[in-house]
Amino acid sequence: MQTPLQILKSVFGYNSFRPQQEDIINHIISRKDALVLMPTGGGKSLCYQIPALVFEGTTVVISPLISLMKDQVDALNASGIAAAALNSTNSEDENFDIRTRSQSGDLKILYISPERLQKEIPWLQRINIPLFAIDEAHCISQWGHDFRPEYTQLGCLHQKFPKATIMALTATADKLTKEDIIHQLGLISHKVFISSFDRPNLSLDVKRGYSGQEKIKAILSIISKHKGDSGIVYCLSRKNTEKVAEELCGKGILARAYHAGMTTEERNAVQEDFINDKIDVVCATIAFGMGIDKSNVRYVIHYNLPKSIESFYQEIGRAGRDGLASETVLFYNFQDIITLRNFVNESGQKEINSEKLDRMQEYAESLICRRRILLNYFGESSNGNCGNCDICRKPPQRFNGTILVQKALSAIKRTDEKIGFSMTAQILKGFSSEEIVQNGYDKIKTFGVGAGTTLKHWHDYLLQMLHLGYIEIAYNEGNHLKITPSGNAVLFGKERAELAIPVEKESEATHSTRVKSKQKFSSRSFVEEPNANDDLFQVLRKVRRQIAEENNWPAYVVLSDKTLREIVSTPPLSIDDLHYIYGFGEKKIELFGQRFVDAVQEYLKQ
Ligand code: ADP
Ligand code: MG
Repeated sequence: MQTPLQILKSVFGYNSFRPQQEDIINHIISRKDALVLMPTGGGKSLCYQIPALVFEGTTVVISPLISLMKDQVDALNASGIAAAALNSTNSEDENFDIRTRSQSGDLKILYISPERLQKEIPWLQRINIPLFAIDEAHCISQWGHDFRPEYTQLGCLHQKFPKATIMALTATADKLTKEDIIHQLGLISHKVFISSFDRPNLSLDVKRGYSGQEKIKAILSIISKHKGDSGIVYCLSRKNTEKVAEELCGKGILARAYHAGMTTEERNAVQEDFINDKIDVVCATIAFGMGIDKSNVRYVIHYNLPKSIESFYQEIGRAGRDGLASETVLFYNFQDIITLRNFVNESGQKEINSEKLDRMQEYAESLICRRRILLNYFGESSNGNCGNCDICRKPPQRFNGTILVQKALSAIKRTDEKIGFSMTAQILKGFSSEEIVQNGYDKIKTFGVGAGTTLKHWHDYLLQMLHLGYIEIAYNEGNHLKITPSGNAVLFGKERAELAIPVEKESEATHSTRVKSKQKFSSRSFVEEPNANDDLFQVLRKVRRQIAEENNWPAYVVLSDKTLREIVSTPPLSIDDLHYIYGFGEKKIELFGQRFVDAVQEYLKQ
């Protein structure tokens, strides 16, 4: 029998385990329960797939998204693993076949949704199931950010399958959720495995106070650096997903919206097209992306501030699963805070959600390394600077902003604290809008005192003032701004205010991942500098596309971008050389290895 490491090499084509993977696998093989916490893209699947290959019988994987089971099954089949999914789209024949193969123990991995599981329990009890792997296990908890009632029924598993080991996997690590998962599943002699949440190949960037048009411009510039690559833009509202997708399409980009207002068929079509590289950009509400194992998502953009660090981290985690440098950008402005606060106030768990939003805002406002904040949030102490976030790349410069703050506060005071964010900025700038004139605000002493500062900078300063606690928003009074006691201290000259100089647009033109790629991910630099290597990459992509189409698989199931990049940097002379290439397992070498070797040889001849 092969060891886990041998399986890793021969079946998956990887050389070494990532931290924790081997311990987790050994623990499961010794038939003990486990809770596995690993960031999105961290490599959870292998932790149950390898034990499934070691065990006799059929391992059952509970996964929430039926539409994605096909891709997971395809990926396993492409690596020569007998896997299948039980779902409503199967024909009776297919289901019969699955049951027969499970009974004989030929099927190694069976995917099933939690709602479907209930119906299938009677016959499942008659076959040999060594392991239940519950993916996205946070869905069982109301404390998590994606509660699904169907998941609560999984509490009966130990009772109904006393011999089976149970393993719960999730990328959501907050304490309450963690305890709830263990409790609800009734895990026995379990161990909790927590991997580092660091994903160093993801660059982190925050852009503050951009208008809609400015965001679109910045997004276009990011997309232009990743031509032909895949990316996701997350928006808060359905309307925005459609608006952004439309704007991008107008510029000739293959973009689509994805949101809960669309029919299931429409949504599945978008998801399929994205997985199959038929569209490049999906503009989605948060409902998109869970369970998508597409390894070549090169950028994730947040058009709005997300509601919590958990959601944010899970969403950006969908970029760069293959380990290659990938870019993440978060836009946030004042309107986001208002919208999200209103959501929070209407939500069932107001206090928890409010705390979560506070922490998210702190991240966005941070003046220290952003990765440090994220890692600390997930309970990892980190005190270094990552060198791959906007703060590390360009530390904010501070200045004495007392006078600016006083001007803003005095504008707020002179309007009896009856104005909101935008109007405050407009009054300072000296904008005579209809509303301002009607209210006589163009007559107050502070009207236009900040004319020398751009509107955008005023937005930025006001956001900083909010974060510094000089002002607060009265959500129950039309979102008007109120001056706090510490704001008064600055206004009356008792305290000094330090502000950060707003980052100028120009500096954004310097590509974030580029800085990093030069140091650490050098194989990536040719994305911006097309050269011979890139030609070969495109040739290989074409071969991959053909194989994908012949098998009706997504392209990334054939091979990841990282594998193609390795082929480019160490061109194989013979099929044997493929054994040394990342992600080329034995089955893949047998199925289509020769076609890649031929393509490389052909290219080199030319
Ligand atoms: P998760 O489910 O935790 O979000 P996945 O299981 O989908 O992450 O893994 C993310 C990517 O990392 C996949 O492309 C997977 O093949 C790859 N991967 C996992 N473990 C390893 C490893 N030990 N070496 C190389 N690549 C790995
Ligand atoms: Mg996963």
